[in-house]
Amino acid sequence: MRVIVVGAGLGGLAAAVALHRDGHEVVVRERAAELRENGTAIGIMPNGVLALDALGLGAAVRERDPGWGAGGGMLDRRGRPLLVTDQAALRARTGAPAVVVARRWLHGLLADALPAGTVRTASPVRALADVREDADVVVVADGARSRLRAELFPAHPGLVGSGETAARAIAPGLPEGLVAPAGELLDHRTGERFGCMAMAGGAVYWYSTWRVRAPEDPEQRRRWLLERRADWHPAVAALVGATPADAVHVVETAQLARPLPRLVDGRVALLGDAAHAMTPDLGQGACQAFEDAVVLAAELRGTDGGIDGIEAALRRYDARRGPRTAQVQRRARRAHRMLTLRGPRARVRDAAMRLVPAGLATRALGAQLAFDPQRGARTADDPVTADRLG
Ligand SMILES: Cc1cc2nc3c(=O)[nH]c(=O)nc-3n(C[C@H](O)[C@H](O)[C@H](O)COP(=O)(O)OP(=O)(O)OC[C@H]3O[C@@H](n4cnc5c(N)ncnc54)[C@H](O)[C@@H]3O)c2cc1C
Repeated sequence: MRVIVVGAGLGGLAAAVALHRDGHEVVVRERAAELRENGTAIGIMPNGVLALDALGLGAAVRERDPGWGAGGGMLDRRGRPLLVTDQAALRARTGAPAVVVARRWLHGLLADALPAGTVRTASPVRALADVREDADVVVVADGARSRLRAELFPAHPGLVGSGETAARAIAPGLPEGLVAPAGELLDHRTGERFGCMAMAGGAVYWYSTWRVRAPEDPEQRRRWLLERRADWHPAVAALVGATPADAVHVVETAQLARPLPRLVDGRVALLGDAAHAMTPDLGQGACQAFEDAVVLAAELRGTDGGIDGIEAALRRYDARRGPRTAQVQRRARRAHRMLTLRGPRARVRDAAMRLVPAGLATRALGAQLAFDPQRGARTADDPVTADRLG
C-alpha cells in the first residue's frame, strides 16, 4: 500500500516507522525546511516504551533508563511527599520503565529507522486534495494546530490555550550532595509547579509552570523564576541556576477544546497531536501518538489494498484509539485542573493526596500506563470500544 504521512514530528515519524516495517511504501511530507524537534527533553511513560518496543526501538530507549528508585509522585514545594507512586513497582507492573530522553535524540532515532528519502522536507500539504489521489492511506500528523483536522472537522472548535506557561530545560546535573526530589512539586499558594527527572549520564530534565505574566527576556525571566522559587526545595534553584537562560524552552500549553467525534474519514486517519492534543500534565501526548502508530499498523496489516478493506481497517483504528485517547484527554484535563488549584482548595487537595496509600496510587497509575501492543490499550471486550465498532 502507498501511504502519505503529513508531518514529521514524533507522531508522524512513529507512524511511518510502523507502516514501513510492514512493507508499505511510505512518504512523509514535512512543511519545515529541515527535520528538527524542539523542546529539550521528553518523558516516555511505560506505555510509550512498550509501543516503541513494537516499532523495534524500545531497546535503545530502555538503555537510557537511569534506573529510578522507589520515589515518585507529587510533593509539596519543599519536597515533602503528598502522593507517592513507586516507580520500581510501576515498572514491574507495566513491564517497562519511564525514561526521559532528549527530544532531538528520540526524533533522530525514529528518522534513522526509515530509508533515506522517505521524509520530504519543505513539502507542505495545504489541503487533503493535495495528497488523497496519490495515496491509498493518508495519515494526518500535522500537530496540535493541524490544518487538515480543521478541513475535516470545520465545526470543531480546535485548540484552546490552557492559560499556563511551561518552561523546560536540561540541566547538566546537581551539585554534589544535593538530591533532586523525584516527582512534581506543587505550590498550594500559587498553583505553580516544578518537576524534575533524572536522565542517563547524570543530567536532569526540569520543567516549571506559571499562570502569570513573566519577563520575555530569557535572562530576566531566569532571575524572576529564581526569585519566585526561592523558598522551594533547594534543588529547584540549583537546577534553574545551572541552566543557561537561553537553553530554557518556554511555551503556553494547549489542548483540543473537546475530543474529536472520530479519528478517521474514509482513507484518512488522524494521529498524534492532530488527533488528540492535550496539556502535558500526564506526559502522554507523544506516548499516545506511539500507541496510535502501533494500532494503525496492526489494523492495516493483512488488508488487501482494496478501498473497502482499508476503510474497514481505519474504522477499527478509530474504534480502538478514539475511546482511549478521549479518556486520556479527559484525564489530562482533570489532572490539570487539580494540580493547578491554589488557596484553600489546594490545601484540601494536598490533605486528600496524603491519605492515598502508595500501593493504591501505583496500581491506579499502572492501569493507565498499560499497553499491550498486540491488543492495544483497549479491546473489543471493552464496552466503549465495542460500541464504537458497532
Ligand atoms: C511543555 C510540554 C511538555 C510535554 N511533555 C511530554 C512528555 O513528557 N511526554 C509525552 O509523551 N508528551 C509530552 N508532550 C507532548 C508531545 O510533545 C506531543 O504530543 C508530540 O510532540 C506531538 O507530536 P506530533 O508529531 O503529533 O506533532 P508535532 O510534533 O507538532 O509535529 C507535527 C509536524 O507536522 C508538520 N506540519 C504541520 N503542518 C504541516 C503541513 N500542512 N504539511 C506538512 N507538514 C506539516 C510540523 O512542521 C511538524 O513537524 C509535551 C508537550 C509540551 C508542550
